[in-house]
Amino acid sequence: MAGADGGVARVGIRVDRDSCAGSGVCALFEPRFFDQSEEDGLVLPRVREAAPEALPALRAAAARCPAGAIAVVALDAPESAAWDRAD
Ligand code: SF4
Repeated sequence: MAGADGGVARVGIRVDRDSCAGSGVCALFEPRFFDQSEEDGLVLPRVREAAPEALPALRAAAARCPAGAIAVVALDAPESAAWDRAD
């Protein structure tokens, strides 16, 4: 199944709540994919994967995150093959 980005079928969304600073930038710009906990203010992913068409928006969210807490991965590649991670 060919995808929009080099044949990737699905895009994985990974967040590191230990690194999250609770800025809310991800939820502000991409509420389809991210929310913030009402308890601690940290990121809560709304979904764990998305169609490849969401890749530009997810890459932008990862780039905007001031804590480097968002990673976007190809689900048909090793977890270490994150395309975008700010750290
Ligand atoms: S943009 Fe980054 S630091 Fe801010 S809430 Fe989202 S994951 Fe956390």
